Amino acid sequence: MKAIRLSEFGGPSVLHQVEVPVPEFTADQMLVRVAGCGVCGHDLLNRAGHFSTTQLPCVMGHEVAGEVVEVGSLITRFKVGDRVAMIQRIGCGTCIPCRNGQENICVSGAGFYGEQISGGYGEYVIASERNTLHLPEEIPLDVAPVLSCAIGTGYHALRRAALPIGSTVLITGASGGVGIHAVRLAALGGLRVVAATTSPAKAQQLKDAGADHVVVAGGGGFHKELRDWTDGIGVDGVLEIAGAATFPSSVRSIRAGGRMVVVGTMEPGNWPFNPALSILKELEFIGSAHATLNDLRKIIQIVADGKITPEIGRVMPVSEAAEAHRAMEAKEITGRVVLMHDHAMAN
Ligand SMILES: [Zn+2]
Ligand SMILES: [Zn+2]
Repeated sequence: MKAIRLSEFGGPSVLHQVEVPVPEFTADQMLVRVAGCGVCGHDLLNRAGHFSTTQLPCVMGHEVAGEVVEVGSLITRFKVGDRVAMIQRIGCGTCIPCRNGQENICVSGAGFYGEQISGGYGEYVIASERNTLHLPEEIPLDVAPVLSCAIGTGYHALRRAALPIGSTVLITGASGGVGIHAVRLAALGGLRVVAATTSPAKAQQLKDAGADHVVVAGGGGFHKELRDWTDGIGVDGVLEIAGAATFPSSVRSIRAGGRMVVVGTMEPGNWPFNPALSILKELEFIGSAHATLNDLRKIIQIVADGKITPEIGRVMPVSEAAEAHRAMEAKEITGRVVLMHDHAMAN
């Protein structure tokens, strides 16, 4: 099959299309012909070599949707021809997190697409009944790659934040693929949304997506502006998606007793943090990783019902993965880039 395989870490230019064997699947797995794959901020970090668990060489991409083309003998709920989407990881199904419906944080099992298992920048991937769901007619295969990660990650983070209707939430990195869908979901869920972006030109798009207020992140931070906007109280919760650049101001934006959900980071490494702020204001800090199968189930329903419009910034052929990574690093795109395989582009 054709695939963009990561053989060495580095800049976007390390991404080349090569011919590799179709991945082998076990009796309890199936083979999916990938229609398209989203490009995630996570992919940029993986490509640059920031994840010690990535096993090179590995075909990149974890935001996958396609069609089942072969099934193992133990598969009962899927058949050849089914249109499907997968969450980012194939969990083991037996560890404590998996049994609690937290397969997103399983550390055994087959692993994460694009790191331990061959990913969606290749024409075929393996899948399990534990990480796969059927797609309804209403969702085309060129939209489906954004469900699990670009939408699901924000959905999971909002679930982790557990903010009551009417609460105010600050979402940083709001113009990115995860950010803009988190803005839409938060507005849909009845939250007052403050979107933080580094790009003033993207403010109107964020308002159109449901943001009640937009702050431009950069320079001296936005916490003073947000304190004024909330009548001196601060926001009830934050989804921190951007990372080190916004985190200090995000923490200072939270009201006493409020909640910080750490979802993403654009740069690896430590974030500056003054613990006194969390002690005196009794802030809660919560991590949030990717999405669970139940999150994906809910997102499929929300998108099929037309309650959320997926924000796809650009659709490109998989062969242009290097250009997609460059454009994302240059912050040229609002929403998600989807890479489509040739067979799916033609349809
Ligand atoms: Zn992703
Ligand atoms: Zn597990």
